[in-house]
Amino acid sequence: MNMANIHQDNKKWGLIIIGSGPAGLTGAIYGSRGGLKTLVVTGFPWGGNLMLSSEVENYPGFPDAVPGPAIITKIREQAKRLGAEFVEDMVTDLDTSKRPFTLETQKGQTYTAKTVIIATGSKPRMLEVPGEKELLGKGVSVCATCDAAFFKDKTVGIVGGGDVAAEEAIFLTKFAQKVYLIHRRDKLRATKALEKRILSNPKIEALWNKTVAEIKGKDRVKSVVLKDTQTGKEKELVLDGIFIAIGYTPQTELVKGNLELDENGYIKLVKETQTSVPGIFAAGDVTDSRYQQAVTSAGEGAKAAIDALKFLDVSLI
Ligand code: NAP
Repeated sequence: MNMANIHQDNKKWGLIIIGSGPAGLTGAIYGSRGGLKTLVVTGFPWGGNLMLSSEVENYPGFPDAVPGPAIITKIREQAKRLGAEFVEDMVTDLDTSKRPFTLETQKGQTYTAKTVIIATGSKPRMLEVPGEKELLGKGVSVCATCDAAFFKDKTVGIVGGGDVAAEEAIFLTKFAQKVYLIHRRDKLRATKALEKRILSNPKIEALWNKTVAEIKGKDRVKSVVLKDTQTGKEKELVLDGIFIAIGYTPQTELVKGNLELDENGYIKLVKETQTSVPGIFAAGDVTDSRYQQAVTSAGEGAKAAIDALKFLDVSLI
């Protein structure tokens, strides 16, 4: 076989996984261990939302809280040891009309695969208020883990009432002198354990029944306009940074029009992990509006790879 043929042959895969969060990487463990020539196209940046988590307390196997990247790096190493291959690239087109499926990437590569797992995850939801876009990276942030250190001894706000807002508020107190937790209701959605930590932290002040109507500032965030959801009254709050943690939306741009989505925009699974196109499976946050946990994503990745193996009638032993 000459070099050109080897190159060509390398592009024929039993399983291509799009995405490298817990779902994609666990799929890679099961796919490669099950005997499929498995490629992970990681996306940019690789690792998914867990890479942004400073402290994970509920991933099994880690008795002490660990940073998200520590977990994700270990899963990647495990998949690699079992034979999965990785390319740091982004799939820009997926032809679902015939098998093997064809994938085009941002770096100009073309791959073909007998089966595909979509594990593209989700991206942070934005407030969509004036000032947000303009001041993103200038005091507006969607990632406390990434940006908290820029706010040493400053005053910041964090919007949201879920687990992410609660975790990030606690993380922010390591740097900021004051953290306002801005929530549109008077009750948190976050777990009780996190709620306790939030409400007992002297640096955190909860501002209940408030939404952010506007983010103000010229080159940097200077203040936000808060609207009371009960009275409709508005009030300006001076702060140096505002973190947004109001949930996620699934990343389905690649498959819109080719795979069926549910009423909330998540990839619809027609049977177990199979999408509306036989041979294409989906796992993790891109299919899941309910659980959205690293461990459930990992489990779904395993299930999707097992389904891919069964689809190709490969022995699981
Ligand atoms: P989430 O649980 O969906 O919470 C989003 C929060 O943002 C809610 O409190 C919601 O208010 C608020 N919100 C939504 N849209 C808003 C808007 N336009 N303006 C103002 N507020 C808005 O999202 P998340 O905290 O990002 O968590 C995502 C998933 O990951 C969840 O399933 C969570 O349990 C999971 N997670 C788990 C852990 C963990 O277990 N360690 C850690 C991180 C994330 P309402 O409450 O009024 O709806």
